[in-house]
Amino acid sequence: MSQALRRTKILATLGPATDAPGVIEALLDAGVNAVRLNFSHGNADQHARRIAAVRAVAARTGREIGVLADLPGPKIRIERFAEGRVSLKTGQGFALVCRADAPAGDATQVGCSYLGLPGDVGPGDTLLLDDGLIALRVRRVEGEVVHTEVLTDGVLSDRKGLNRLGGGLSLGALTEEDRAHIRTAARLGVDFIAVSFCRSAEDVELARRLAREAGSEAQIVAKIERAEAIDNLVEIVEAAEIVMVARGDLGVEIGYAELPGLQKTIIREAVARNRLVITATQMLQSMVDNPIPTRAEVLDVANSVIDGTDAVMLSAETASGQYPVKAVEAMAQICLGAERQFRHDTDFEAARRGLTRADEAIAMAAMFLTEHIELKAIVALTESGGTARYLSRYRAASPVFALSRFDEARRKMSLMRDVYPIHFDTRGLSPGVAARSAAKQLHDLGLLAVGDRIIVTNGDSMERRGATNTLRLLEIGEGGHVEGLGEL
Ligand code: PGA
Ligand code: MN
Repeated sequence: MSQALRRTKILATLGPATDAPGVIEALLDAGVNAVRLNFSHGNADQHARRIAAVRAVAARTGREIGVLADLPGPKIRIERFAEGRVSLKTGQGFALVCRADAPAGDATQVGCSYLGLPGDVGPGDTLLLDDGLIALRVRRVEGEVVHTEVLTDGVLSDRKGLNRLGGGLSLGALTEEDRAHIRTAARLGVDFIAVSFCRSAEDVELARRLAREAGSEAQIVAKIERAEAIDNLVEIVEAAEIVMVARGDLGVEIGYAELPGLQKTIIREAVARNRLVITATQMLQSMVDNPIPTRAEVLDVANSVIDGTDAVMLSAETASGQYPVKAVEAMAQICLGAERQFRHDTDFEAARRGLTRADEAIAMAAMFLTEHIELKAIVALTESGGTARYLSRYRAASPVFALSRFDEARRKMSLMRDVYPIHFDTRGLSPGVAARSAAKQLHDLGLLAVGDRIIVTNGDSMERRGATNTLRLLEIGEGGHVEGLGEL
C-alpha cells in the first residue's frame, strides 16, 4: 500500500462527452467511484447503454462502481416563445400566463405549465428564472396571470426553470414522469435513486415505496435544494440513506450567500445520523471549458472534504464538458491534498449518545483501537455493508476494507468515505478462518504487506445480515501467513 488511498469518493455525471470511445475507461482509471445518470436529459435507451458501458469496464478492471439515477423532479418551467427567446429590460412589465393553452410567448408574456403558480405567489415575491440569471418581482396576480416587473436585463429562452426566492412553490415532489423514471431505473438495476426538490420525509418514503414496487432495492438520495427541505432537514436525513447538497437550485431558492453555512449543516446532520452525503454542483465548473481548475474551485472542493462530505460530484464538467477526464483527475488530486493536510478526529459522539446494535458497538471498539494502536487497516467482513457504514461515519484513522460477496452491497459502499469495497466469499468458512483468509487475500492483492497489523470484524454467523459481533487483532506474517497479534 505504497500510494495513499483517496478517502473521499467521486461521483461523475455521464452524458454526451462521456460517450466517445475510451472515455468511460479513462474516467474510472482517473478515480470515478460512482456514476450519475441525469434523467432530465436523454432517454431510457441512452441510460441503458451508458450503464452497460460502465459495468463492462468495471467488470474487466475489477472495480465496484455504483450507479445513481437522478430523477428530474417537479422543476417548474416557463413554456416556449414564438421566437425561441426574448430580451427583457429592467423595469418593464412581464406576465406569466398559467394556462394549459397559453399562446407562444413574446417580450410581454409567456406561458407557465404550473397552473398553481397564481395561488402560490403574491405581490412583492421575487421569481428567479434560469438559475437566477433573470429576476422578476410580482406586482399582482389576476386570475391565472401573474404580472411582474423585470429586475435585471437579460435574455430569456424556452423552457427555463423558475424558482421563488425563499422557496415555497408547492408542486409535489414526484411527478408522473418521475414515477415512470423510477420504473426505468428499477429495470436498469441502479444502486441509488435521487429525488429532486424533495420537501419532506414523505417524499423520500414515497420514492422508496415506488422503487420497491418496481422491484428495486436502490437506496434513496434526498436532494436538498429547496427552502422547505431545509425546514424539514432532520426528518429528511432520517428518512433517506443519502443526502445531496444540491447547491445549484438551493442557491437560487435560498440565496447563494447562505450556501456555505447550509453545506456545513447538512453534512454535519447527515454524518451524525449515520447517513451519507454528496456535495454537488459547479465544483469545477470552469473545467467545462478549461483544462485546469480555478484556485477558488480548488479551495471549494478541498473545503467540502474538510467539511466531511463522503463524495463530491461532477455535473456538466464530465457530462458535456471538454475535459471530462482532466476534471476527474483534478478532483482526485484536490481530495488527496485536503485529506493529507487535514485529519478528521475520530468521532466518539455516537458511543456517548448510546449504542443500540452489536455491529455499531464493534465498529466503535475498532475505532477506539485504531486511535491507540498502530494499525494499517480495518477489515470488515460484511454481508450488507452495515458495519462499514458505521466505521465510515466515525471517520477512521485507518482505511476500511469492506469485504462482501454481494455485488449490490459492494456497489452501495462505493460512495462511503474511507471504505474500499472488495469481493470476498466467506461461505463454508468458520469465522476465524474467514478472518484470516480475508487478510491473506488483501495481502495477495497488494493492499496489505508483511508486518501490517489490522483489525478484522465479522460475525459468528456470516450468513446473517447485521450480525457482526467479533473483533480480531491480526498481523500479516511472512508469505502472507496471518497470525494473531500478541505483543503490541
Ligand atoms: P440538478 O441538481 O443538477 O439536477 O439541478 C443539483 C443542484 O441543483 O445543485
Ligand atoms: Mn437541482
